[in-house]
Order: sequence, then C-alpha cells, then structure tokens
Amino acid sequence: MLDLLIRNGTVITPQGVGAWDVGIEGEHIVAVAAPGSLPTDGPRVLDATGLVVSPGGVEPHAHLAHPIMSHPEEPAATLGPEEDTRGMACGGTTTHVDFCYVRPGLDVQPVLEQRAARWKGQSYVDYTFHITLAGALPLRVFDQIPEAIQSGFPSFKVFTTNVLPPHPKRAGNRIDFGRIHFAMERVARHGGLMVVHGEDEDLVQFNYERFREEGRMEGSNLHLVHTKLSELLSFRRTVALAEATGVGVYFVHTSAKEGVDTIAEARAKGLPVYGETLHQYACFNAEFYKTPRGFCSHTYPSLKFPEDQAALWQGLLRDGLSTLATDEYPTSLALKLKGRQIDDVTGGNCGAEARLGIAWTEGVVRRGMSLARFADITATNAARILGLYPRKGVLAPGSDADIVLIDPRIKKTLAREDFHVSDYSPWEGWAVEGWPVMTLLRGKLIAERGTLLGSPSDGQLLKRKIDPTVLKRPAC
Ligand SMILES: [Zn+2]
Repeated sequence: MLDLLIRNGTVITPQGVGAWDVGIEGEHIVAVAAPGSLPTDGPRVLDATGLVVSPGGVEPHAHLAHPIMSHPEEPAATLGPEEDTRGMACGGTTTHVDFCYVRPGLDVQPVLEQRAARWKGQSYVDYTFHITLAGALPLRVFDQIPEAIQSGFPSFKVFTTNVLPPHPKRAGNRIDFGRIHFAMERVARHGGLMVVHGEDEDLVQFNYERFREEGRMEGSNLHLVHTKLSELLSFRRTVALAEATGVGVYFVHTSAKEGVDTIAEARAKGLPVYGETLHQYACFNAEFYKTPRGFCSHTYPSLKFPEDQAALWQGLLRDGLSTLATDEYPTSLALKLKGRQIDDVTGGNCGAEARLGIAWTEGVVRRGMSLARFADITATNAARILGLYPRKGVLAPGSDADIVLIDPRIKKTLAREDFHVSDYSPWEGWAVEGWPVMTLLRGKLIAERGTLLGSPSDGQLLKRKIDPTVLKRPAC
C-alpha cells in the first residue's frame, strides 16, 4: 500500500529521464512506473506538474562544528548541524558527509563516537563522516583502519599540506607522504578509499615566506600562494602512490586545470581516481577577491583563473570530475570577512543551500548539462564513490525516498531571504533559473518553498560500504 505518489513530474532515473510516477511506501521508493499505472485512491498524491524530480542531493564535503584556526589567538568554530542542515534541507540536499579528525594522541573509534554524539538529534538531513588522518600519527592508529572500514566508515581524508603557515597555537593538518603511503596500503587492502586535499607543502610554505618578505600579504594574492603548480605536483605524487598501492582516490576541491588533467590522465589509465570540485571554484575566479565581498567565495586552496573555471566545467559536463561539492564551512559574515591577508582569510563558506540551484542554473540551463549528469554530480556519484549507493543518490525501487523537486520556471536574483543559514550567502545577487521547491527525506517532506518542515531529529547516521567496482576502475 503506497503512502505517497508523486505524479506528472519529469523524473531522473538510471533508466533515463521521463514522465514516471514515483510510489513511496514508508521511507522507501517502491515503484517508478509508467504514468497512471499506480493506484491513486490510497496514497497522498503530490502533483509535480512542471517540476523535475531528482535524487536528494548528497553533499560529500562539509565541515560543521569545526574549529576555525585562521586567527589562532581567537579560536572559533563553524556553525553546527542544527543550523547548517536547515539550509541543506531547503536547498534539496538530504545527506551530508562531515569529518572526524584523528590527531596524534587520539584513536579512531572514540573520535567517531564523539562526532556521532554531537550530530545525534541535531541534523535535519542524514549524515556520515570521513575519517581525517592528521599529523605525525603513531603507527598503531593505522592498525585501526580495517575496523573503521568494517564499521561503516571507509573513507580516509589526508591533507598533503598544512594549508596555512605554522603557528604554535595551530595544530597542523598535514600528514607526510610516508604515512599517506602506509595508510594507502591498508585502505586498499580492506576496501576503503583515500580522500585527498592535494597541495604541495614546499611550494605553499615557501610562497608564504616569500610573499611576507616581499610585503605582498593582501588576500587577493591567495591564488599566487596556493598555486596551480602546487596542485599539479601534489595530485601527481598522490596518483603515483595510488598506482603503486592500488588504492582508490577521491580528490577534494579540485581547483585548477592541472588538477582536472591529472585526474583525467589517471582515469584514462584505468585507475580508480575521482575528482570533486566546488561550485564557487567553477563560478568565480581570483579577480573576485578584489571586490568588497570577494573573500566570501574563498575556500582553500583558492579561486584560480578563467582557464581553470573552463576546465572545471568541462570536467563536470563530460568526464574528469565526478562531484560538485561545497566544502561547507558556515560562519557569520563578520567572521568570514575578518581576515584580509593571505594567511588569515577564513576558508570555506555557507554554500550547501545553493549547491543544487547553482548546479541547475549554471550546468543545465547555461551550459546544456543533461539532467542525468545533473543528478550524477549532485547526488549519484558521491553516493557511489563513498559507499551510499543504491540506498542514496538514485530514484529506484528499494532506495530511500530522498527526493528533491526542482521548479525550472523560477527565475530570480538570489537575496538574503532565500537562505536559512547564518547571516549571509556568497550567492546573494546571483541570478538563477530553476530552484529546489520541495525536499523529501526518507519519504517525509522536510522543506517546501523555503519553509523548513523537518526536525533536527530527522537525520540519521549512515554506515557505508564502497562497491568493489568503484575501487577497481573509474566507475562514474
Ligand atoms: Zn574541506
């Protein structure tokens, strides 16, 4: 007996895009069927005439309730899930992946439990965590990798750079390539995936020294410190290690043409290498740093050049990049704009709420992206790569009824009132055509036309298992 029937929409399914009816029972999709073929007398009927029905967004990269160390003398934290996932719900994202940082002195399971406890009852959408391996970790921590994978947390994030210059009050994020190699061997053996922030530490840190000495500390030079060449060197070094160990790699926030090219080359060789970029990297370049709110669109590494934006869009439209993420890092506008120098601009932003709407406008409407590809880069591929598929990321019988309905007829310039997180969005002033109007999480309507209907107890912790085919060769 169906509980809900979505009729008359244009539905994005693995079998193609078309006029299907979607039947939901409890928390699951039970039927995707020809129009009129499902019973209409029992269930609640949702008329989706004129709307596009797509899998609920999967945000593969968010940092909520996360320490901010851009100003080490005045530590702060990003907003938590209770605040930020309101925007995800309204913007069509039904799952997000955050991080557990394992630093020297800590062990994997307690950190996972601590993060899970922080999220419990505080998230409007479903959630899970990558495990970040940071710093000079003792070898015993690497012995915990198999257990973490078996318990449903199979993705391990590493930073190849400290991102910012060393500071006595700031724990570095970097882990050396010796330990990365050591982790890769274990992760590969047990069916996990490496998640890599790739920048060359030597180049980045030398650039900081050099720019300080030359008196070029303005934040508008960020792309000359966090350079294209740095991404090239680090991505290539990582791919070489991945090839040697047979591990799958997911590069977060690819920002440069060099990064996209390196990923494409690795994939052409059949290596299981995947790339993510961010909507702010695709839509802005470093010229924007010079404008009054320019740093609102900054995320480390940095915005780059127009040729990089072109390469990112090519990667998103065709192949080379698999996911469009946010690197969500929500703060107040004042905190976001507090730093003005290359070593203290706050990275990340409040971007998750706009992610699907921007992907629709800039991808589908302005660049001719297919609807199938739209679903791939906003939901399906992240679910596949990170081990949530087919429970998440797809409209098919048996999957969770996580669904976003997009109204392609909406044309507006985004304003503060369109957003539900913090006191700013970097996307205010951006003209969109098409915007999410309804979001269902496991069959429950959690947002409708900007009104939040869900509850912070709706979100559930997800355990993951990555399909072996994803780890053998490029699967999406
Ligand atoms: Zn990040």
